[in-house]
Amino acid sequence: MIRLDMDIKVIEQMVEQALKEIKAEQPQKFTMPKAELYGVFKTMDEAITASEEAQKKLLFSKISDRQKYVDVIRRTILKRENLEMISRLSVEETEIGDYEHKLIKNRLAAEKTPGTEDLLTEAMTGDNGLTLVEYCPFGVIGAITPTTNPTETIINNSISMIAGGNTVVFSPHPRAKKVSQMTVKLLNKALTESGAPENLITMVEEPSIENTNKMIENPSVRLLVATGGPSIVKKVLSSGKKAIGAGAGNPPVVVDETADIVKAAKDIVDGCSFDNNVPCIAEKEVFAVDSICDYLIHNMKENGAYQITDPALLEKLVTLVTNEKGGPKTSFVGKSARYILDKLGITADASVRVIIMEVPKEHLLVQEEMMMPILPVVRVCDVDTAIEYARQAEHGNRHTAMMHSRNVEKLSKMAKIMETTIFVKNAPSYAGIGVGGEGYTTFTIAGPTGEGLTSPKAFCRKRKCVMTDAFSIR
Ligand code: NAD
Repeated sequence: MIRLDMDIKVIEQMVEQALKEIKAEQPQKFTMPKAELYGVFKTMDEAITASEEAQKKLLFSKISDRQKYVDVIRRTILKRENLEMISRLSVEETEIGDYEHKLIKNRLAAEKTPGTEDLLTEAMTGDNGLTLVEYCPFGVIGAITPTTNPTETIINNSISMIAGGNTVVFSPHPRAKKVSQMTVKLLNKALTESGAPENLITMVEEPSIENTNKMIENPSVRLLVATGGPSIVKKVLSSGKKAIGAGAGNPPVVVDETADIVKAAKDIVDGCSFDNNVPCIAEKEVFAVDSICDYLIHNMKENGAYQITDPALLEKLVTLVTNEKGGPKTSFVGKSARYILDKLGITADASVRVIIMEVPKEHLLVQEEMMMPILPVVRVCDVDTAIEYARQAEHGNRHTAMMHSRNVEKLSKMAKIMETTIFVKNAPSYAGIGVGGEGYTTFTIAGPTGEGLTSPKAFCRKRKCVMTDAFSIR
């Protein structure tokens, strides 16, 4: 209550003060509390600044803490409801791939990406003392991720980069914005709740080429990692910064006369149809030796391949799925074989997983990375020709290749000639990323820049610590 004898000036001051307080409160009222941002920021600069602050804290945390954070990421993704949610949303938002296969891929990224155990220290001792060579963080990493593996790449990169002591700012594909935000928030929330510094993983609310450019240009971003097609790889490599480029592939398969043809046919269809052919490692074209080619095609058909033999229908298919530049039409990338056939006016039953056709090696479907379950088969006179054609169709990406053969000499020859990061013998392509094959996984396969199968140490700098005249106990 206002006292009547109160000076009018005092009342004015009280009102002014109250208004000031209300004004000061307003912005807070409409801004999400910091902890609730969970790594998603309005601007790229904010995302980078937050990442930088987090990295300063991570740098002084223990290796065991980093491993704890890695384990938190694994557990969070492996929670059934989370795994299902990000896998479903990924297919819904991008309209690419297959839900069941996304489950496998996200699980794989969470389970089989190496942690801090990857960072093995080298020690040299002698009369001059002790020298250590250790894998140390870069700092803030800017990572660009593809539509084809949006969540898998975020999980895989986050584990590797944080294990290496880095923090990461993601620039996802705009068409995978929602699912990327959800994954980043999910992981940050779990990490923060486990006691990790806030914002180990960040991204901008509206991913765009402009925001990626800002990320590339920001001096606080010390390392760029691009997982995607040729354009973004070229861009990061021209940035003047240290960059890791994980670019396109066009993986060929060679089948020779010594192979187990029944198994080869099944493996090829399984690999080619995995996640509707979007994995960069998936079988994209086959070179089969003439003497076994018919039998291979017969067995592929037994395993869910639909063969197109009519040249007019083949032409119609090519027109349907390619754009004016001769590349894949975005609306067909990652669609199922049945969906594509349906658009051609063909109703296929549920067993159909791949569309095959016999074509010459120059055919566009052989030479282009289509990322849909369309698998051209090229008949060749012998295995050496098959290997040479495979080398040409791979276009020097040095990414992935497969061979089905029992001839050790030819297997070795092809492995050497292809120079690919991944070479799979007598198995589906996905054995190369750890599904049914030994070894760890990665979703950033850096052929162009040579890191190959990236793991925590690929995102670290090798640094030397020298102590003279002591600590050699030999
Ligand atoms: P994409 O090249 O269209 O996009 C990849 C990322 O780069 C996206 O975030 C996109 O927004 C960004 N980008 C593309 N061009 C850009 C530019 N000029 N400036 C700034 N940002 C740009 O590729 P996609 O369709 O999302 O993914 C499929 C491609 O990625 C295929 O070629 C596939 O082989 C390749 N890939 C490679 C690997 C690997 O490990 N080597 C893994 C997955 C995908």
